[in-house]
Amino acid sequence: MSDIRTQLIHHPYRAPAEFDALPVAVHKASTVFFKNVADLRSRRWKDKSGYTYGLHGTPTTFTLEERIATLEGGTHCLLAPSGLAAVALVDTAFLKQGDEMLLPDNVYGPNQTLADGELMDWGISHRFYDPMDPADLAAKITPATRLVWLEAAGSITLEFPDLPALNAVIREANMSRGAGARPIVSALDNTWGAGIAFNGFELGADVVIQALTKYPSGGADVLMGSVVTRDRALHLQLVDAHMRFGYNVGGNDAELVLRGLHTAVLRYEAQDRSTRALAEWMGQRPEVATVLHPALAGSPGHATWRRDARGAACLFSAVFRPGFSQAQIDRFCDSLQLFHLGWSWAGPISLCAPYDVPSIRRLPWPHAGGLVRFAVGLEAVDDLRQDIEQALQAMRG
Ligand SMILES: *Cc1c(COP(=O)(O)O)cnc(C)c1O
Repeated sequence: MSDIRTQLIHHPYRAPAEFDALPVAVHKASTVFFKNVADLRSRRWKDKSGYTYGLHGTPTTFTLEERIATLEGGTHCLLAPSGLAAVALVDTAFLKQGDEMLLPDNVYGPNQTLADGELMDWGISHRFYDPMDPADLAAKITPATRLVWLEAAGSITLEFPDLPALNAVIREANMSRGAGARPIVSALDNTWGAGIAFNGFELGADVVIQALTKYPSGGADVLMGSVVTRDRALHLQLVDAHMRFGYNVGGNDAELVLRGLHTAVLRYEAQDRSTRALAEWMGQRPEVATVLHPALAGSPGHATWRRDARGAACLFSAVFRPGFSQAQIDRFCDSLQLFHLGWSWAGPISLCAPYDVPSIRRLPWPHAGGLVRFAVGLEAVDDLRQDIEQALQAMRG
């Protein structure tokens, strides 16, 4: 081993094992070494008792999984390369040809896009239910139903559903199905609650996913998702799909989320305070017909939100008075200086986007005016208020 090329790769030095500090080390590897053939044959990764291949977990990703499981109040977690990938992992783990999935009418858009695309091609159908009406969910369940998605609050329109009542409907359907039949899995997209505003399992969900892209990261610089359960059998089903599809998250990205997690609750609370202040103020503006935000009295599901949640995230939507044209509302959005136009939320910078709600929903939509959704960042709330005020002037002008 005299050649420097070989010496540098097979170097004998090993740093002392114990390095005691808060940050979690970033481990990156495709290959993981085995001590001998017996070790290669016997080592297990599904229960986190060992490392077998980078794709199957590293100390960094195992640590992040454990922390997200704790955040959500669950016992098992898998990481996915994005929030949408976490949705897709749940769909592909629990649905087979001939199965049916139920989606809330206000479902996160790309969840529906996957259902309309690959899932339809694979013979998996879907229908929509009114998330504000548990009786409607009960009426939509058929013997083919295997997965029900839940979301609280709803994307864009922020209705807060009665999760315990919806999950009771699913439990009842499972009980009448009898032993041996494949049960319906209840999957909650908990990106809005982030494991901070409420515990999805206590409200009855079997599986809780989150876009770690949002609050846990907090930096607007990483995409990642998580899938958490309290049920080992469901977890192992997810583990198999996760392995077969080759889902991976990079060590550096996992590090960013581990770092963001330390401040996630503080950011959630700070953004919640600013958002409530702006939402209340905007509700008083003459240009605005209504403001949608679960903590505002009169917003759909407000009483349920008060009963079940401890926080309200950073989103609110303003519905303009019908007298304002879409061109004027677009001018309002274009005139904002601090709020940037863009997708996502829960990062440091405030964002907004206009939506045409009737074009993306099946249920009747009671409002005639255009809607703009705001995602409030970490800027000073007075500056954000002034920004909206000058943009409203520009819209009227
Ligand atoms: C952003 C978001 C997702 C998807 O997260 P990505 O990491 O952007 O793929 C899923 N569900 C909800 C409710 C979201 O807001």
